Amino acid sequence: MRHASNFSSFIIAAFVSLALVACEKKTDSPRAAEPPKTPAAAAQESMHAPAGARPGSCEDWCGEHQVPESQCTRCNPSLITAFKATGDWCEEHKLPESQCFACNPELKIERPPRTKGNEP
Ligand SMILES: [Zn+2]
Ligand SMILES: [Zn+2]
Repeated sequence: MRHASNFSSFIIAAFVSLALVACEKKTDSPRAAEPPKTPAAAAQESMHAPAGARPGSCEDWCGEHQVPESQCTRCNPSLITAFKATGDWCEEHKLPESQCFACNPELKIERPPRTKGNEP
């Protein structure tokens, strides 16, 4: 009965591809409802921390300036007074001394590692 077995595998293949198409449609539909983003806005999003990122977490990172977003004086100038108050300020480069690569070429600011989602 070779015919019969070939036919049933054809049916299975057809069913599987149909199921895949159905799956794809399912996951696509909520995305389509979102407003389209401009490429610039998307880049901005990936470069900077999302709103509500915890200070010191992996998400709290300014990709544009390579410092923690919560300590990025270029993105958040209101932080400048706090750095000046602690004496951590480079007047020449308008940066916290602890973030001034021009004065401290050896400086390394590392992004905190991603945590495993077992935090609140
Ligand atoms: Zn920044
Ligand atoms: Zn400097």
